[in-house]
Amino acid sequence: LWRRCLERLEGELNAEDLHTWLMPLQARDDTHGLQLFAPNPYTLDTVRERYLARIETVISQLTGHELTVRLEVGSSSPRANASGKVAPPASVPAKPAPAVAEPVAASFNHNLDPHYTFETFVEGKSNQLGKAAAMQVAMNPGRAYNPLLLYGGTGLGKTHLMHAAGNLMREQNPEFKVLYLRSEQFVGSMIEALRTKSMDEFKRRFRSVDALLIDDIQFFAGKDTTQEEFFHTFNALFESKQQIILTCDRYPKEVDKLEPRLKSRLGWGLSVAIEPPDFETRAAILLSKAHDKGVAVSENVAMLLAKRIRSNVRDLEGALNTLAARANFYGKPITIDFAEETLRDLLATHAQAVTVPNIQKIVADYYQVRLQDLLSKRRVRSLARPRQIAMSLSKELTEHSLPEIGEAFGGRDHTTVLHACRTIKKLCETDTRMRQDWEQLIRILTG
Ligand code: ADP
Ligand code: MG
Repeated sequence: LWRRCLERLEGELNAEDLHTWLMPLQARDDTHGLQLFAPNPYTLDTVRERYLARIETVISQLTGHELTVRLEVGSSSPRANASGKVAPPASVPAKPAPAVAEPVAASFNHNLDPHYTFETFVEGKSNQLGKAAAMQVAMNPGRAYNPLLLYGGTGLGKTHLMHAAGNLMREQNPEFKVLYLRSEQFVGSMIEALRTKSMDEFKRRFRSVDALLIDDIQFFAGKDTTQEEFFHTFNALFESKQQIILTCDRYPKEVDKLEPRLKSRLGWGLSVAIEPPDFETRAAILLSKAHDKGVAVSENVAMLLAKRIRSNVRDLEGALNTLAARANFYGKPITIDFAEETLRDLLATHAQAVTVPNIQKIVADYYQVRLQDLLSKRRVRSLARPRQIAMSLSKELTEHSLPEIGEAFGGRDHTTVLHACRTIKKLCETDTRMRQDWEQLIRILTG
C-alpha cells in the first residue's frame, strides 16, 4: 500500500523532497491503518507538517476508505533495514517518539506535547514577557492572571508557551486537569455534541477541567454558536477560578466578527504580545533546537540561517530540519557551504532582494520625505531620524559593511552609520512608537 502511495506521490513531488523525506520512511499496515516509521525526529516533524494530510488523502483514494496514518520514530522491523539504503541516524540520540496528535480520547487526555517546555523555550526580548506571564500562571493557576492571552504572528512560540504552561502545571500537581485544544477541536467537539444531542456532557467536560487552554481563537470569528458556547464556558471557568489560557494570531480587538462581549472578557486578564525574535535570539533558538535534535551545527551556520530567515521560528526550524535530514542522508557534515548549497532556494525566497536602495526608497515613502533629501547632508530632524533608521535597517537586513552603507548614504563615514545603528537600537527599547515603526518597516521589507 505504501509503495503504491509513493508511486502516486512521485508524480507530484520533486525528486529531492521525495528522497529526503518520504523514501526513508518504512511502513507497516495493520488492521488499524497504516503505520509509518521515520528514521529520526526531524524527518517525522517535516513529514507530519508537510505531507501527512496528502498521504492520508492518497491512502484513502487507493483503498476507498478512510484509514488513519500513524507516524512515529523507529523502524518497521527492529533489526533488518528493509530498503538497505537508509543508514540509521547515528548522530541522533535515541529519544522517545513524540506523541502523535491523536483525536481526543474518551479517557482524560491533556493533549499536551511534553517536548514543549519552558526549558526548551529560548528567551529573548521579543518573548520574555510572554514567557514570564505563562510561568506565573502555571505556578499559580487561576490566581495570577485570568485569562492569560498570548497574541502575535504565526510561528513565534505561542503554542509552545501554552503547552509549557500546561506541562508545568501538571509537574506542580500531577492531578491537575489541563485540557489543551486547538480552537478547531473545540468547534468540532461542540458540533459533534450538538449533533448527538449531548450538550450537557460537552458542558460538563469543559467545565470540569482545572485549566482550559485554547489555541488560535481567531478561528472562532464568525462562528456565532461557538462563541456563545465558549462565552458561557469562559464565564463558568472564570467564576470558579479555573485557569484559562488563550492564544490569538493578533490582538483580539482587531479580529473581525468576534463578539464584543467576548473581546471585553479577554481584557479582564492579561494580554501579552509575542514579537518576532531579533537576530541574537533567532541564532540562540537555532543552536538550542540543533542541540535538542542532536544535530551538529556550528555557530557560523546558525548565524547564516538566523540572518537570512527572519520571518518566524517555524521557518527557521524547518530550514534546520531540512539541513539535518539532507546531511544525514548524504553522510556529510553541516558546513557553511553545505548549508548554502542545500538551502539555496529557500534562502533565496527569504532574501527577497532587500537592497540598500530598496530600503532607502521604502523608508523615504514611509516617512514621506524625498529620497534625495534622505541621501543629502541636511541635518534637520525630520530627515535625520529616517536617515538613521534607513542606515540601521541596511545594517540589519543586508550583508553590507558599515563603510559600504555609509558610502550608499551620500558618502558618510562608517562611524556615522555605527552611531545610527546604536541610536535606533536604543530608541527601539525605550520608545514604543519607534519600535512599531521599525517592525512595520521590517515587515514591509521582508514580506
Ligand atoms: P505559534 O503558535 O506562535 O504559531 P509555535 O509555538 O508553534 O508558534 O512555534 C513554532 C516552532 O518554533 C515550534 O517548534 C516552537 O518550539 C519553536 N519556537 C518558537 N519560539 C521559540 C523559542 N523562543 N524557543 C524555542 N523554540 C521556539
Ligand atoms: Mg500556534
